Amino acid sequence: MIAEEPLLFELARGKAGDYAGVIKGLDSAASGLPADALRSGPPPIPEISELDAVRHFTRLSRRNAGVDTQFYPLGSCTMKYNPRINEDLAASPAVTGVHPLWGPEMIQGALAVLWETARRLSEISGFPGVSLQPAAGAQSELGSLMMIRRYHQDRGRDPRTVVVPDTSHGTNPASAALCGLKVSQVPSGPDGLLDLEGLRRVLSSDTAALMVTNPNTLGMFETGMAKAARIAHDAGALVYLDGANMNAQVGVMRPVESGADIMHFNLHKTFSTPHGSGGPGAGAIACIRELEPYLPKPIVERTGTGDGSAYRLQYDRPKSVGRLGAFHGNFAVVVRALAYLLRTGSDGLADVARHAVLNANYVRVLLAGTLPPAYPGPSMHEVVLNGKVLKERGTSALDLAKRLLDHGFHAPTIYFPHIVPEAVMIEPTETESPATLDAFVSAVKAIMDEDPAVLGTAPHETPVGRLDEVKAAREPVLRWPA
Ligand SMILES: *Cc1c(COP(=O)(O)O)cnc(C)c1O
Repeated sequence: MIAEEPLLFELARGKAGDYAGVIKGLDSAASGLPADALRSGPPPIPEISELDAVRHFTRLSRRNAGVDTQFYPLGSCTMKYNPRINEDLAASPAVTGVHPLWGPEMIQGALAVLWETARRLSEISGFPGVSLQPAAGAQSELGSLMMIRRYHQDRGRDPRTVVVPDTSHGTNPASAALCGLKVSQVPSGPDGLLDLEGLRRVLSSDTAALMVTNPNTLGMFETGMAKAARIAHDAGALVYLDGANMNAQVGVMRPVESGADIMHFNLHKTFSTPHGSGGPGAGAIACIRELEPYLPKPIVERTGTGDGSAYRLQYDRPKSVGRLGAFHGNFAVVVRALAYLLRTGSDGLADVARHAVLNANYVRVLLAGTLPPAYPGPSMHEVVLNGKVLKERGTSALDLAKRLLDHGFHAPTIYFPHIVPEAVMIEPTETESPATLDAFVSAVKAIMDEDPAVLGTAPHETPVGRLDEVKAAREPVLRWPA
């Protein structure tokens, strides 16, 4: 067991000294301020030596479980290796020194990065329109649904329902609700795929859009996607593709071929940015010609070619849904994505998809006799295992996930998708070696042979064990008692 790391405030307790005195001195020196605006005592800021502060944060950093320390099979999140060259470029002064309020003539290089990234995403997806403004997948979903509403309104309609499969990521129904739309769920078929008959039943003249994730969150390819798109179109709805799982198809299949009208990319997942705990991210929107006028503004445009090319920000877009945030998106994430795209190349991108799919199937097959996949058939980039057998042994998906931490692996996603009992969702990603996957499979098998009592109290080797998972949200402590 590793010793508890105290908070900075605790390390510094009783050490208030020079800085607090200086601040108090400044306060009283600011004569002219009314007395009741002055501090009565030193501010309660921690005060320790620089060396102690460095050691505190270094000790904490060594406790991080991350892609750089261990296998991180957190399904749906695509926690893969982030090439260091991306970090070098994103941290270069040419990127960090640019101010978004500078005029276009001063930021031609930055605009070229945005334009080139959008062009490549257009090529990968097959969609002509691209916006790099959204700061996350969820924000692209919201922006796209706003675009879809405007599209219908321009055609004299105002359908208010969004249809999602019961396996959809939580952000899909949440974005629909935030956009003032109702959500209608289609249960998946017995094969874990979109049930086309079920889809026909829920579609109506009030359906604004069908939102499909492909591959879906069970890690399965929606073989009926093109048919589903036709059915939705016949009902007057548009088709939204949640493209967070693009690492399963990038360079192999263009989403436009599947009948979708609009989609989002998660640049931070598919094209590598260290992400987690809510950021940083970038969620590009890509769409068909008919939806292009509604894209968020501004859009980066290029005139001329080669050395004669110039870039500008196009604001004159009267049908646009407007801005989704300040300035031009999460630029440093876009820089990383372009670096990744340039370095990987188009053949390399197809290899990304092939390896992501191979790795997920490798894990699925090796674990089949221990924890069976929830649905038969090949996996795409991730595999969802049915953990019923865990329950039968008096343990649970949660216990398995916690015990894996003791074996040196980050916990997989559990209890999602909701339709799978004791779901264990494993996304190995394309950057893991067979040796790592073998070690993971051995760990899962070893844990399945353990006494359920050992699992029930796991993890045993981490600085803290089972935390109250909601306490921090329900009773946040935002102020250190003075
Ligand atoms: C990650 C993910 C999202 C949401 O993306 P964020 O960038 O986290 O907002 C949506 N759908 C799927 C399938 C995802 O995996």
